[in-house]
Amino acid sequence: MLHDRFLMTESKKPLTILLASPRGFCTGVDRAIQIVERTIGRYGRPVYVRHEIVHNRFVVENLEAKGAIFVDELDEVPDDRPVVFSAHGVPKDVPAEATRRNLVYIDATCPLVSKVHREAERHHEQNRTVILIGHAGHPEVIGTIGQLPRGAVLLVENVKQAETIEVPHPVDLAYVAQTTLSIDDAVEIVTALRQRFPAIQGPKMEDICYATANRQAAVKAIAERCDALVVIGAPNSSNSMRLLEVATNHDCARSRLVQRVGDMDWRWLEGARRLGITAGTSLVDELIAACRERYDVSVEAAQTIDEGVVFKLPRQLVA
Ligand code: SF4
Repeated sequence: MLHDRFLMTESKKPLTILLASPRGFCTGVDRAIQIVERTIGRYGRPVYVRHEIVHNRFVVENLEAKGAIFVDELDEVPDDRPVVFSAHGVPKDVPAEATRRNLVYIDATCPLVSKVHREAERHHEQNRTVILIGHAGHPEVIGTIGQLPRGAVLLVENVKQAETIEVPHPVDLAYVAQTTLSIDDAVEIVTALRQRFPAIQGPKMEDICYATANRQAAVKAIAERCDALVVIGAPNSSNSMRLLEVATNHDCARSRLVQRVGDMDWRWLEGARRLGITAGTSLVDELIAACRERYDVSVEAAQTIDEGVVFKLPRQLVA
């Protein structure tokens, strides 16, 4: 037996894992998960959650086991149960409808998304047309558009649209952005808008949030040293998809998204000596353990920045 194990270890090929850091859940997602858990603790089960609190099946299933019920719309929530709004933010008519129905609601919108909402409102109050740079149909984009009256926000998804969009008054114009865009894409789009509309107003720092920026920078730092790179995340997560793009655009063409460690195609990894790992989730340890079963693994953590960001919880859940 001892001999067999020795042989197995001997036959394992070496694999160096480069761990992108920071990676995994941001403070906004951690806060949203805590909000659902504390709401269940305070009001009992079930607690309704409008939309996946974060785009992560693992988190969603865990919260379901604790007593959360995920729904698409408010009309699926009974009058006598509390409802939590997801970290992506919601259009204004959602809390308005919850108030009209006397529902207990807790808003888990990430404070950085709320900041973009306030920017859009400020520009609108100053009679500027607001351009939102983002991806159509993403819940955060729907939420931001829904802060202003219908038709007040124009969506721009790419450079081509920035080069062709028509606006009513080019001097009264502002832009805001989805927090989870690719920094590189956002810079290109803003540059194209500024070329056409030099008077356009925008945030001093782009709206892309610190966590998105840091995770993309961490992937850039390791991508060209990797033979292959795995992003552990969900295809409907903007953050995960942008990390995949960043890896592919920075010299690691052999990059792929894996939702669960069990989905990993080990043949795809054949021949790789250096594997990069980043994640929009907390499943990294599981993937490293699965690698250890097949390879003689050494792990290098590639820390690019130490994040020290803390967001407060909603007042209803503190104390
Ligand atoms: S805005 Fe940033 S910190 Fe907030 S939830 Fe989104 S990725 Fe996380």
